[in-house]
Amino acid sequence: MSVASKPLFAFDNTYVRELPELAQPWQGAEVESPVILALGAQLAAELGLDPERLQSPEGAAVLSGSTAPEGAEPVAMAYAGHQFGGYSPVLGDGRALLLGEVIDRHGVRQDVHLKGSGKTPFARAGDGKAAIEPMLREFAISEAMHALGIRTARSLAVVATNEPVRRETLLPGAVLTRIAESHLRVGTFEFVAAQGDEALLRKLTDYAIARHHPEAAEAERPALDFYRRVVEAQADLVASWMLVGFVHGVMNTDNVAISGQTIDYGPCAFMDAYDLQTVFSSIDSGGRYAYGNQPMIAQWNLARLGEALLPLIGASRSAVEELEAVLHGFTVRYRETFTAGMGRKLGLKPGAPDLDLLVDDLLLLLQNQKPDFTQFFRGLSASLTGSDARVRAQFPEVDGFDRWAARWRETLAEQGVSHADAAEQMDRVNPVYIPRNHLVQEALDAATGGDLAPFAAMLKVLEEPFTERPGLEAWAAPQQDDPGTFRTFCGT
Ligand code: AMP
Ligand code: MG
Repeated sequence: MSVASKPLFAFDNTYVRELPELAQPWQGAEVESPVILALGAQLAAELGLDPERLQSPEGAAVLSGSTAPEGAEPVAMAYAGHQFGGYSPVLGDGRALLLGEVIDRHGVRQDVHLKGSGKTPFARAGDGKAAIEPMLREFAISEAMHALGIRTARSLAVVATNEPVRRETLLPGAVLTRIAESHLRVGTFEFVAAQGDEALLRKLTDYAIARHHPEAAEAERPALDFYRRVVEAQADLVASWMLVGFVHGVMNTDNVAISGQTIDYGPCAFMDAYDLQTVFSSIDSGGRYAYGNQPMIAQWNLARLGEALLPLIGASRSAVEELEAVLHGFTVRYRETFTAGMGRKLGLKPGAPDLDLLVDDLLLLLQNQKPDFTQFFRGLSASLTGSDARVRAQFPEVDGFDRWAARWRETLAEQGVSHADAAEQMDRVNPVYIPRNHLVQEALDAATGGDLAPFAAMLKVLEEPFTERPGLEAWAAPQQDDPGTFRTFCGT
């Protein structure tokens, strides 16, 4: 077989094969002149793909959804979901397609999924399309999250369709290729449970267990054990968001992945000044998905998963209690993971005495005085090896900080951690660079206007968030004279 005739992807499509009830075979809309705007060459290689071939006209046609590559079995996936608390019985991929699955270099099965590839039977009133700005935004933020060490769907490519998309104005269209360990959502389980088809629910659960939590298959009660593992994975995920100030923005149950990866980057953004009430999404007027609400909302979403799984656990009252006990475990697990993460952010070793108190008092201090969350931790580590001027300058009333910092230094001393070691550890987990909203927006505006250089430069900054480099000072700081009115739009 010549190289050119080798398939672009080595697809092996378990979802369509095993869950055809949840897969609507569909074709991407035709795109006449697709142009690749962004392509993750390293990710392509990790997926066993040839980046050069992806860059070719053949690759652009495939990544635009226009041509299905050999071995692909494109489907729109069915799911339901609670959106802002209200139940929608049928959502599904209205403008997305699962092309197929590949096994990556680490042996992990990955979905290759297109977003913006045209209307599907789930499109309802939508046009099935996506615009360049939100797709490049998802690309940049998901890749930034990955570099921060957070579990996330990745972005392989964004292709411009060179067709207008009608929103409030006409916008240039695009298609995103995202890669995820699966696109099974809490909403997938809700969809099946609502049909009352227990056999299908069991099949879906077995599939999810095999794909994400194979250990659960060995448990005495696989469905219950599966639930516990999903709950723990979500607790860990949301803790990792909270530790960097990430606000997802639209934590509907259809946007919660069973795999424990972050998916569906819409109106997400990173918080500058620490404030539990931080909301960026223009549609989240009630602040349901505010930064500080995220753990509680994740638990609420997991309660919906528990309800969906109930028929598999047993219909008795004790089954409900068993599910509730697992759900309560969320709080414990979240607290443990978050506090341990804060310990690392503070340069402490595991098991620091009274870490809970030290962390709680710090969070209260941050909430009251609202320093920049990212700069605070880097300033704090710098205070161990040099001057504390930078970190102190972040507090309008510095006495409170000084008192807290004295306790923190005592804890470091009690643990016998040298200042140099603590600072080094802190700088490994506290980013210098996060996607600063105004700079992300500048890069996206330029890209929409045809200048991709700022976007490419941004990717370079964000792919190495922990290493301070000269010339990138703007990325290490919040917007000067920030009016605090930054808003994100849902990107539909
Ligand atoms: P999202 O807000 O991206 O999580 O999407 C929520 C639901 O709306 C999903 O069912 C999407 O497939 C659907 N949707 C969003 N935008 C569009 C669009 N432009 N055309 C069709 N369906 C859409
Ligand atoms: Mg979604």
